[in-house]
Amino acid sequence: MTRRAGIIGYPVGHSLSPVFQQAAFAHSGLDVVYERWETPLPDLPARVAALRAPDVLGANVTVPHKEHVIPLLDEVGGLAARAGAVNTIVNRDGRLFGFNTDGPGFVAALRQEAFFEPGGRAFLLLGAGGAARGIALALLEARAAAVDIWNRTPERAAALARDLGAPARALADLPPLAGYDCLVNCTTVGMKGGPDPEGLPCPLDSAGPGLLVVDIVYAPRVTPLLRAAAARGLRTLGGLPMLIYQGALAFELWTGLPAPVDVMVRAAENELARREGAAR
Ligand code: NAP
Repeated sequence: MTRRAGIIGYPVGHSLSPVFQQAAFAHSGLDVVYERWETPLPDLPARVAALRAPDVLGANVTVPHKEHVIPLLDEVGGLAARAGAVNTIVNRDGRLFGFNTDGPGFVAALRQEAFFEPGGRAFLLLGAGGAARGIALALLEARAAAVDIWNRTPERAAALARDLGAPARALADLPPLAGYDCLVNCTTVGMKGGPDPEGLPCPLDSAGPGLLVVDIVYAPRVTPLLRAAAARGLRTLGGLPMLIYQGALAFELWTGLPAPVDVMVRAAENELARREGAAR
């Protein structure tokens, strides 16, 4: 029986998940078709109910449905419940289990691609939206020493830090970067098609030489922040590894098999390069 998985969101036309998940299934010799399940909010209950069918492995969930799916599931894992967001649904014999692999995907990308162990390190997160929440939670779980959060709208940073508890704290003003081991852009600044595609989410003048600069924005692959950091000789990590590792963790939850991460990275990079070429 051909089985199915897919991505639920609105819109999902530009999602890279179908590209690298399909490559992973093919490489692993699994007869699975990964589909784009574009779903306006009123259709969400029926879409999620359809995941209980025996030929469905599960789904990824993206904007704007990560919160909305929660009451439609049978069980939600601890991290997803704390994040208040599910990005992976697994169908086990007609019961639906919700997980959040975004934050763990970020931590895996740090470890595997930047050789950076978050335990005991000091982080500055820019932004206080859904991505910042998942990442901050995973960093606390990985025993980061400090998780400072700055956001354009300070009230949102304060609310997030209150939810998370120590050592997370909100900063009203952008601090000097010299005291941090890792800076993470979790805003949409620098994103193609976003509100400020050419902008920097913060100046880098005060960065010490050991700072790792991470931008979770993955389109374009080299954002203005990553370009500015590299020009200063700082180490950088783009957003694609996080995207791949969250998908790799989802693949493992669906199949019980190790994800072919290299195959997934290659498929995603080829597709991004194709899109960037087509846009020129
Ligand atoms: P979100 O919930 O909408 O949050 C957006 C954040 O960006 C908020 O903190 C917002 O600040 C800030 N922001 C927006 N415009 C800004 C501006 N002009 N100047 C300063 N700050 C601004 O979005 P999200 O889901 O957290 O996603 C954030 C980014 O991460 C997106 O680019 C998304 O593509 C990327 N992402 C990547 C991955 C990955 O796997 N690599 C995963 C998830 C998300 P206010 O609160 O002040 O509005």
